[in-house]
Amino acid sequence: TAIPERERALIARRERLLGPAYRLFYANPVHVVRGEGVWLYDPDGNAYLDVYNNVACVGHCHPRVVAALSRQAAVLNTHTRYITDGILDYAERLLATFPAGLAPGAGHAMFTCTGSEANDLAYRIACAHTGGTGFVVTRLAYHGVTSVLAGMSPSLGPQQPLLPNVRTVPAPDLYRAGGADVGESFAAQVRAAVADLAAQGIRPAALLVDTIFSSDGVLSDPPGFLRPAVAAIREAGGLFIADEVQPGFGRTGEGMWGFARHGLVPDIVTMGKPMGNGHPVAGLVARSDLLRGFGERTRYFNTFGGNPVSCAVGMAVLDVIEEEGLIGNARVVGEMMRAGLRELAARHALIGDVRGAGLFVGMELVTDRATRAPATAATARLVNALRARRVLISAAGPHANILKIRPPLVFGREHATLFLTAMDEALGEVAAG
Ligand code: PMP
Repeated sequence: TAIPERERALIARRERLLGPAYRLFYANPVHVVRGEGVWLYDPDGNAYLDVYNNVACVGHCHPRVVAALSRQAAVLNTHTRYITDGILDYAERLLATFPAGLAPGAGHAMFTCTGSEANDLAYRIACAHTGGTGFVVTRLAYHGVTSVLAGMSPSLGPQQPLLPNVRTVPAPDLYRAGGADVGESFAAQVRAAVADLAAQGIRPAALLVDTIFSSDGVLSDPPGFLRPAVAAIREAGGLFIADEVQPGFGRTGEGMWGFARHGLVPDIVTMGKPMGNGHPVAGLVARSDLLRGFGERTRYFNTFGGNPVSCAVGMAVLDVIEEEGLIGNARVVGEMMRAGLRELAARHALIGDVRGAGLFVGMELVTDRATRAPATAATARLVNALRARRVLISAAGPHANILKIRPPLVFGREHATLFLTAMDEALGEVAAG
């Protein structure tokens, strides 16, 4: 599809002003000027169904969140070296969403502006507490933009070298496990990574994983598979850091946090993206005893992290998730999406696997169901065919053949129906070549 003249000019302007490191989605990039609920709008007023944005969790520009933001911005916005009420009310409310081991009294909350900063802080806390520096991450993980985290984010590609204190392990992939116990094999990989670190004289600080393995290809099953690996890292003296930037805040449809599906309580939980529905608020929750050494050794100040406006926004997001029943919606509509996609699999041979939890759905495309050979080129065509139908989605995984389907949590049954119809047509178009 030819890129319209107006957008071609804007793309040239981006390149001139922003330089070469920025990337756009789609062969025909989408130009958006407005958002509302599950919809994005282009300058001509065309509506695009957003099936991809896990940041706008309560829906684009939710009026309640916008009102909370503007109300607080008109009253006070400052940093955490004054006593302010909002950060305390929010910390209390946030901590109350955690299991007993991290809830108020047992855990502390610390605030940042991005998920990267949250992971970076978790890195420092884990090193300070354990005295180790070794980290284990999955083979296609993404954890953030700082120098340390880019060095722990193999999904950035081979040009971005990993840090010498980092080891990668293959993510637990039930679809390709050939019947093996993915939990046990993942734990064995973690133990081998710890042994490899030890051979270099490096003690482990933590196992850091996204509990839905988003960039590794949406690996959700079977629930509980993380437990043996977490036991293994703890036995070796390391911590378990759950990166909840992707699955957190109700997306998995079974409570607020993705780790809960695994029947685990992490030592540190990092969070971001949906936390402010688009406003940059992020942070971590850690067991209180882990912060003792860190807090004695150093002070923590983050100019914008935990400011009253961010806390008001975070609070409004929690209110909407609760009052609109969005966790239940994620469960029910997510189940409907998976059932609908499995029905499409009866007619479309490209679909190899449908998985996920709540409104985090993964669909793996293969050229051959027997060999499970990844349909990388067809997936790219499918993503663009959906975009041509004004349905926004993208792909992940080692072969970019796994659709990441994660709409705002206000995605209703009627939106799921629109999505499944567009998917049916787009799959037909791709199969026809
Ligand atoms: N962890 C995970 C799992 C992520 O997906 C991301 C962002 N894609 C981050 C951390 C970093 O968050 P941010 O972009 O807010 O720094």
